[in-house]
Amino acid sequence: MRYRSTRGDAPLVSADKALRAGVAPDGGLYLPETLPRFEPGDFAAETSLGALASRLLSPFFAGSPLAQPLEAICASAFDFPLPLVTPDAREPGLQVLELFHGPTGAFKDFGARFLFRAFDAIASADDPITVLAATSGDTGGAVGCAAEGARHARAVILFPKGRISAFQERQLCCWREPVTALRVTGDFDACQRLVKTAFADPDLSARHGLTSANSISIGRLLPQMAYWASASLDVFSKTGLRPGLIVPTGNLGNAFAAVLARACGLPIGPIVLATNANATLSDWHRSGQYSARQSIATLANAMDVGAPSNFERLSGFGDELIEDVVRVDDDAIRARITACHAGSGYIACPHTATALEAFDRMSPEHRAARPWIAAATAHPYKFADVVEPLTGVSLTPPPALAEVLQRPVHVSDIDATIEALAAQLGAPARA
Ligand SMILES: *Cc1c(COP(=O)(O)O)cnc(C)c1O
Repeated sequence: MRYRSTRGDAPLVSADKALRAGVAPDGGLYLPETLPRFEPGDFAAETSLGALASRLLSPFFAGSPLAQPLEAICASAFDFPLPLVTPDAREPGLQVLELFHGPTGAFKDFGARFLFRAFDAIASADDPITVLAATSGDTGGAVGCAAEGARHARAVILFPKGRISAFQERQLCCWREPVTALRVTGDFDACQRLVKTAFADPDLSARHGLTSANSISIGRLLPQMAYWASASLDVFSKTGLRPGLIVPTGNLGNAFAAVLARACGLPIGPIVLATNANATLSDWHRSGQYSARQSIATLANAMDVGAPSNFERLSGFGDELIEDVVRVDDDAIRARITACHAGSGYIACPHTATALEAFDRMSPEHRAARPWIAAATAHPYKFADVVEPLTGVSLTPPPALAEVLQRPVHVSDIDATIEALAAQLGAPARA
């Protein structure tokens, strides 16, 4: 399998090259040149998520150095539960796919764990990989956690001092070798500028094998197909029907993985996007015109995106597979969290609540036409400050998140200068 750029002006590359590069040299995003075609029966023998993922992903890594380790990477990356639950017995047509049972309590664990294991498999002592990530939320924690214990790839995480929550800061600073957390004197934009400056420095880039782990990486998108495949196969085998999917959406990574899975023949019906008050995608769907905007801050902050980075992949590939885009503002998020808990006892995080609200706004006929699966993208404990006052429930952290609170913290403070960052990067990772 080779990968082409969305802008069509870069050489075709193998999977490992596409992962390492992140962005294609013409500025576009990598997409597989062709798609494998599966039948639901092809997965009948796979009994674990890891085995299913390996079967699904093997055509995407064929002919690359990742083909051989793929099975082991999938088995170790996807070793946590993936419950498909019915939150409300009176509404059996809606199931929730809980994507938050990984070690950092957010669905980013799926992509980050796969990507980091893949990086570790293709890096070597002579050819190191350093993932440089500017973060204000979930991605940095998932990447740091995924990197712990890696041998040849390492992670360097930059975050803005005094601008993230105490729990988020812990979740960035609690990981052991080879993870470095850098608290930057500046805002998130300053962190991002630093990362961009480092990537643009050919000497620094080559010496440390700098790469990114953000949501444009094809190495994060591909593994996210696995849970959509697993859930849709499960529902299809029980009902003979293709479930519709409702995806809480920011940068369109999760949704694009659903589109890809459907395009590969998985039994997936219509795909509905749920967004917060950021209106870029709902305006596009309504008018056919795409225009990026400034992002606005909402309760579902991991979806505060005004220029969804994977839109470039979606347009011209699978945009006709998006049945609807439902925009849910903060008042509706609050009301949905409250109503859901009052009606069924189920507790949703603000991101998950956008999907539940999108389901509620469908017509009864549309809801009844097929089973629906809404993604739950974060553990509600991570948003306890929002959820507890609305439900009156005092949330307890799941074991993995409780452990984060116990771990020692390692962090260095740096000024927002490239010299300070270069000094932290230090000698080559393994020289
Ligand atoms: C990242 C994230 C999202 C948005 O996912 P995209 O792939 O960017 O669309 C939704 N919910 C949570 C909790 C997230 O961390």
